[in-house]
Amino acid sequence: MQILNFDLEQEAWMEEGSCVYANTELFFPVGSSMKAIKQSNEAKAVCNECVVKVDCLEYAIRTNQDSGIWGGATEEERKSIRREYRKSGSLLNF
Ligand code: SF4
Repeated sequence: MQILNFDLEQEAWMEEGSCVYANTELFFPVGSSMKAIKQSNEAKAVCNECVVKVDCLEYAIRTNQDSGIWGGATEEERKSIRREYRKSGSLLNF
């Protein structure tokens, strides 16, 4: 799981992530090349099947994760999600 590769405080949901056995590189595409876009799309596909997607996205927003794919969202996507989250305190629309 991508998050286990970092020295972050572990939360119970992390062990249930669909990315536990996935290629970590997929979740951290670099740049905007076709390869990076393909990696990003593949990571999002994994996230879309993940049972802890909302927990993951909420965690990324709450802890200001600013790189990689978390909860099916890229860094740029999380910026707008974060703005809405700060206003409403909820991720229900995502
Ligand atoms: S939502 Fe994506 S990044 Fe988050 S735990 Fe699930 S598969 Fe991993």
